[in-house]
Amino acid sequence: MSAGSDYQRLRAHLAFLRMGAAAEALPGLLDEAMKAKLTNSEFLERLLSVEVDAVDERRRASLTRFASLPSPFTLADFDFSAQPSVDKKLINELGTLRFVEDATNVLLIGPPGVGKTMLAVGLGHAAVAAGMRVHYTTAADLAARCHRAALEGRWATTMRFYAGPRLLIVDEVGYLPLPDEAAAALFQVVSQRYLKGSIVLTTNLGIASWGKVFNGDAMVAGAMLDRLLHRSVVVDITGDSYRMRSHRARAEKVRKAVAAES
Ligand code: ADP
Ligand code: MG
Repeated sequence: MSAGSDYQRLRAHLAFLRMGAAAEALPGLLDEAMKAKLTNSEFLERLLSVEVDAVDERRRASLTRFASLPSPFTLADFDFSAQPSVDKKLINELGTLRFVEDATNVLLIGPPGVGKTMLAVGLGHAAVAAGMRVHYTTAADLAARCHRAALEGRWATTMRFYAGPRLLIVDEVGYLPLPDEAAAALFQVVSQRYLKGSIVLTTNLGIASWGKVFNGDAMVAGAMLDRLLHRSVVVDITGDSYRMRSHRARAEKVRKAVAAES
């Protein structure tokens, strides 16, 4: 058997196994092995690590796409000194993702602009980095998607979709009252993930006002809260809006400049 036909068969094996990156690296690595007198196991390790890296890269890219996180912020970008009501130790503990292990939910509650979305997205990025399937949605998008699904007869598939990810982020619950159908969708999503998969949920409504999300249906609101809160961490953010803070700082600067001129 000639070295040439060995090489061809090796290429064919790699192609059959869909190891494209290894196939591409093969000629170069064979040269290198010859020149550097690599042992068989050294050569094989290098060849396989090329493929492992490529598969890992693809997996990460696909997890990132699926996650649909709306901004690149990580937990490290969060300025804790600007938001003293947020317990840094608690957020760092959440950042270890132990809460995902036992399907604990995280509720981020607070007025607009205090960093709820930023923290939720930061947890999302941490989970993606850990190789978990994560999906971000706003409550309004979830409602719209479920509405389309209902019209097109894909309700069950859509419900399975929201049950799938290890971590589901539902942002902006409570900004708009949900129509009955959307409330039912959110209720079903929460119910089917109960004790199975974590939800990180952000809301501007204190827990006592949750009836409003459901058009005053206190029964549904209560049943959903029971499931959400049974195993949960609640992060109540009471501080000022970070956006308003920078507006205020800018306004202050302008005021000072004007005062200095006059
Ligand atoms: P919320 O979801 O509570 O309305 P966001 O997370 O959207 O607030 O925050 C509003 C803006 O302020 C975003 O651009 C966010 O990155 C920024 N921001 C809020 N809190 C902080 C913080 N503590 N450190 C750094 N940036 C922050
Ligand atoms: Mg937000």
